[in-house]
Amino acid sequence: MIKCACCGSYISSYHRYKTNKTDGKQHHYVYLRCAGKANKIPCSYKEIREEVAIDAVMSKLKAIQVPDALLKGLWNS
Ligand SMILES: [Zn+2]
Repeated sequence: MIKCACCGSYISSYHRYKTNKTDGKQHHYVYLRCAGKANKIPCSYKEIREEVAIDAVMSKLKAIQVPDALLKGLWNS
């Protein structure tokens, strides 16, 4: 489970379907929303698209660099 960085409540996902007016196709979006507001906990977290959240996590992961010395140590052990 993911927890809200703002209030510590659990983040839940919900699905939303929208029909594109121009091509008539139905689009499926997944949003992540903090449960804090439903529990009357003040929270400034706004709902975001799941893709946006995944992108943010991936860019953080890419920023982590494992030193070569540590990798070599892992291979040799
Ligand atoms: Zn929250």
